[in-house]
Amino acid sequence: MVEDITKISIKNTDHSRLSSVDWDNLPFGKVFSDHMFTMNYANGQWENPEIVPYGNIDMSPATSVLHYGQSCFEGMKAHKNDKGEILLFRVNENIERLNISAERMCMPEIPKELFVEALKTLLELDRDWVPSIEGYSLYIRPFIIATDPYVGIRPSETYKFIIFTCPVGSYYSSSVPVKIETEYSRAVQGGTGFAKAAGNYAAALYPAKLGQDNGYTQLIWTDAKEHKYIEEAGTMNIIFRIGDKLISPKSGDTILNGITKRSVLDIARSWGYQVEERKVTVEEIIKSFENGSIQEAFGAGTAATIASINCIHYNDQDYFLPEPSEDFFSTKVLSFLNDYKKGLIEDKFNWLIRV
Ligand SMILES: *Cc1c(COP(=O)(O)O)cnc(C)c1O
Repeated sequence: MVEDITKISIKNTDHSRLSSVDWDNLPFGKVFSDHMFTMNYANGQWENPEIVPYGNIDMSPATSVLHYGQSCFEGMKAHKNDKGEILLFRVNENIERLNISAERMCMPEIPKELFVEALKTLLELDRDWVPSIEGYSLYIRPFIIATDPYVGIRPSETYKFIIFTCPVGSYYSSSVPVKIETEYSRAVQGGTGFAKAAGNYAAALYPAKLGQDNGYTQLIWTDAKEHKYIEEAGTMNIIFRIGDKLISPKSGDTILNGITKRSVLDIARSWGYQVEERKVTVEEIIKSFENGSIQEAFGAGTAATIASINCIHYNDQDYFLPEPSEDFFSTKVLSFLNDYKKGLIEDKFNWLIRV
């Protein structure tokens, strides 16, 4: 029985779209590779794992995910090294986190071996879609959705797990102004902030739009109760360099446990920086501007890796940071991580998997 479930059937596309890709003008997340992996959950088990040509999925308008958002996702990247091998970065942690998200959303876990097998098979098939151009990568989007055609509210009895991929260029590279949000909240104690649950992102759109209308690209979220503690920057974790210390809010109920952030801090420790993961108050950040001890602030997440912050708005005031230069920690760690993911330096943390 179990052997049947892990056997992935493959239907190849008969019209690859690869030759029509405009590599010089590649928009993020709009160009999709030839194939996708899909698998369905019914009668208490995952079944029918298959790789098929990328395409639309057919569903009833009553499908529960469309109404109640029972859904979660992951985001990771594959790179090609100079031998043409495909490398995955800390992918086991994405799998574990998807299952943590799934549990919180009352959805079935994905067996780890099957996930890895699906991913490897898919990437092997679409290996020509993994760019080898400097700064480019293949973005991987696995997700689970509730598929019962039923408008009542209860956990679905059927689900779909899909992995599709998109080749992507480098993300916004210039640094951005952000605003400390003190009215709206992204996450609450006991809520779903630690999960990559679809609804979290929908709920953040409106406050983010208000911030953008005022010229701030992202929000710095604070705790929902007192708006006193800093949590995340948009959909990234946030890291400050104050003096020679790196400080980041500790992941937990309301702060997503980011793999990029953990990698950045592990690298920082190995370079001899002092690292503190703890509660970070808005007050201490404002003070660090006033006494000139703040050096850098940046977001960390898979899509952009590092997004530097050049201005933080709080209480009707803009606090400015210099543009990152060559000797900034964030510049060095970004280039280190880019090289690491492409297998250009020794895998001393054991973070890479070869497909
Ligand atoms: C995905 C995500 C992050 C970053 O996680 P990575 O594992 O580094 O990609 C941070 N915060 C939120 C809210 C996220 O959704």
